[in-house]
Parts: sequence; structure tokens; C-alpha cells
Amino acid sequence: MRFAIGGIVNETNTFATGPVGLDAFLQLRGEACLAYARTNHSLGGAIDGCRDLGIEPVPTLYADAFASGLPSRTAFTTLLDELAGRIADAGPLDGVVLTLHGAMAADGHPDAESTIARRVRAVVGPDVPIAVTLDFHANIGQPMVDAVEIVTTYDTYPHRDEAERAREAAALLARTARGEIRPTAALAKPPMLPVPQGQHTEVSPFRDLIAAAHAMERRDALTVTVAGGFPYADVPVAGAGFLVITDGEPERARSLADALARQAWTSREAMRVRNTPVEQAVAEAIAYPDGSVILVDVGDNIGGGTPGDGTALLAELLRQRARRAVMVIADRAAVADAARAGVGGIVESMVGGKTDAWHGEPVPIQGRVGAISDGRWVHEGPEWAGVPVDMGTTAVVQVDGVTLVLTEKPTAPGDLQQLKSLGIEPAAQQIIVVKAAVRWRGGYGPIAKRAIHVDTPGLGSADLMRFPFRHVRRPIWPLDPETAWAPPSIPGS
Ligand SMILES: [Zn+2]
Repeated sequence: MRFAIGGIVNETNTFATGPVGLDAFLQLRGEACLAYARTNHSLGGAIDGCRDLGIEPVPTLYADAFASGLPSRTAFTTLLDELAGRIADAGPLDGVVLTLHGAMAADGHPDAESTIARRVRAVVGPDVPIAVTLDFHANIGQPMVDAVEIVTTYDTYPHRDEAERAREAAALLARTARGEIRPTAALAKPPMLPVPQGQHTEVSPFRDLIAAAHAMERRDALTVTVAGGFPYADVPVAGAGFLVITDGEPERARSLADALARQAWTSREAMRVRNTPVEQAVAEAIAYPDGSVILVDVGDNIGGGTPGDGTALLAELLRQRARRAVMVIADRAAVADAARAGVGGIVESMVGGKTDAWHGEPVPIQGRVGAISDGRWVHEGPEWAGVPVDMGTTAVVQVDGVTLVLTEKPTAPGDLQQLKSLGIEPAAQQIIVVKAAVRWRGGYGPIAKRAIHVDTPGLGSADLMRFPFRHVRRPIWPLDPETAWAPPSIPGS
């Protein structure tokens, strides 16, 4: 058998500066996609899953802008036309595995995954089964579900099982292609918009939801999706979703999906988070007797599409004279300033706060340039183990007690190699700032003595009341605290 593989990936923060163009997307064409084999990545899992089953993976186009502002209409349609064209030209196919995110919006396409799935369906016709792999933060749309046979979604946040879930998708797609199973899906979307920080799957309530989903998979379902959703995509389809796929039992799929939705709805208040004010967080981190203390810069959560140049914590670390603190900021102009000063030189610059008005003011710094690097490293994992990353030219500048890492491109933290590759030993730091919500736990969790989630300003803030929502469905919790929802009753109970 032959399965086409490919996809278009973006987690779209519609509040962030946009539109972003084609150049925001990593683009792998044809055989270049196969470089992701044997990585802990969805595309890698799709390749390996096919090969393990004796199926030929036929690479098409894989385009990935990670997380950003809204992709432009031109960028999206150009990529979708190419993906569809390459699938059409791939020769006889027995299936298609699409690597998608689930929380992508594009200009003119607020539910981009539904647009992609329907287009691919139109290309391959009704008889070639399609599987989709999604991120845990997917905002799942019914049109996408209707257009495909199989959907698998990470069960973990931080994401540890990307490849595993894609292998599951390939295996279920193979059984579908052979006529062994007849997948039928039901999607439940209670009116709730939890923030990423409340979706950590290693603690309640999402740990319990995942456990319930796994119990369903052992007894009744082919695969079960618990998707926390992505609230910073201001689109009608935003919010948590629960998707159950059974083998030819639509009523059972419906009752199981509704049961998960009911469990999520009744535990929603436990998904609220309250974060520490900036000044207090820095004071507590400095006073903590035994680092490393992780200061989580929730407002500038790069994995949630923020610019990575938020300065609230840098300004406060310098003001309170923190020692052995490290912080990464994306600022192309400041990198250039450091490069001009050269290694060993003194650089003066205004750092960060340049992309928009949400992430603080530029901070004046003066410091010694400790290193300049090409910013390339390979993830040690767990998330994306084996996947290379390019931060652009990167400078390490010592500003008083703060080791400031300046990168050209925003790079989501979560992997110790980001610092180790620059000669910075994470475990030797008193304070490490991570611009994240939960993803940081993958790499930094094992070395963290304490974590303080900081109420920094920015487009990843856990306080959704700060955002000018216009397109999400209303009422929705927590924007409308009095939202009522009548969970469907359990038949027979
Ligand atoms: Zn995610």
C-alpha cells in the first residue's frame, strides 16, 4: 500500500501581529520530508508508522509556521494548492495521512483544517481514506471531522507522544484501507475556552479526562481525542473538543463524546489559573534558597504565537539585581548590535518590546558579549527529540547578574539544548525565565526546584478578559461566567 503524507501546520494567535507570509513557513518538499523519520514529531511518526506496516510513505509537502499571527490568504492558498496538487500527482494511493495542528486560522479561512481536509477529500475522492493528526490544542471543527475517517490527537501536554499518535493514525488508516474497520466519529464541543496553562495533562482535571479517554479506548472506541483547544484563535470553532471514533457504532461514539464533554464541563472551574504579579515573582525567585527557580513568562508564550520579545521580567530582574539569572529574548536588531560589538566587547542596546504594544517597553542594556552563535541545535526531547531548530544568529550578553540570550527568531523553550548549545548550564542557574505556559516542563521540569507562573502582560496571558474577542461563539466560559450548558444525559441513567 501507499499512503501520501504531508500537511500544513500553524497554531494561530489571531491577536498577534499579522498577516504572516509564506516566508514564515518551513517548507519541505517531496523527499525532504523524510528527514523527519525517527523523530518524536507527528510527521516522523507518520513516516515510521507507515514503514513499520510495510506501507510506502509518499511525501508531498510539509509546511510549518509553528505558532504565529494570522497567515495571509495568499500564503495559505499557495500552500494548500501545492499540497493538493502533489497529492493529486502522487499516483495511486491507498490513504492519506495529514499532519495538521488543529488551531490554524488563515485570512479568510477561520477553520483552516476543515478547509484543508475538504480540499484533500475533493482531490482523492470518496474511496481513499484520510487520517489527520492534531495537536492537543486543536480547535476541532465538524467539517474536518466529516471529511476524514481517522483523527488522532496528542494525549499529553507538554507533548510527549507526537510520534506515537501519528503511528496510531497510520495503523488505524491501514485497517480502514483494508476494510477491517468502519470508523464513525462523534464530536462534542461544550461552550468552554480553557487557557493552555489549565490544560497540563499530568494534573487534574485534564489528567482525569485523558484517563477516561484511555478507558474508552480499551473498551469501546478505536481512538478518543481530548483537545484542550486554543483560546487565542478568535474564531467560532475555538474551544475544547472531545472526539470519539468507534467501529461502526455512531450512537456509542456520540454517548462517549458527550460523557467526556460532561466531565470537562463539570470540572471547568479547576481549569482556571491565577498567576503571581511580576515584582513579587522576581522577589520570591531571588529569595528562594536553592535554584533553579523557573519563572514562567506566561504572557509571552512563544508556543502560543507571541513574539518572544516581552520585557516585563527582564526589566524587573535588572531592577531587583538578580544574580545567576538567564533569559532569552527574540530581537533581531539587538542581535545585530551585539554582533557589531563582537565577542568580549561591550554592547549597548534597547532590547525587546518592539513587535507590538502588548509585551512591555524596550529595556536599555549595557553588557559584555560572551558568545555569538549560529543558533542551530537539535532537540534532545522529550518533545521533538531529534528535530533540528534554527534560532538565527544568537548572542549571549552578560548584563549585571542576568545572562541575556538574544535570538533573531522567537524559539519556544522546553528543551535544555536551547541553553546547553550556547555553553549555559541550566542546572547552575538560580533563575531561568521561560516564555511558555506548560511546554517548558518537558525539558526543565526535571531540574526545576520551584516554578512561579508570572502574570506578565502579553498575548499569551491567562486572563482572557484582557482580549478583544469578536468571533468566538457566545456565551462561552470563562468569558461569560454565567454560561449555562445542559450536558446531554447518559442514556439509561
Ligand atoms: Zn500544543
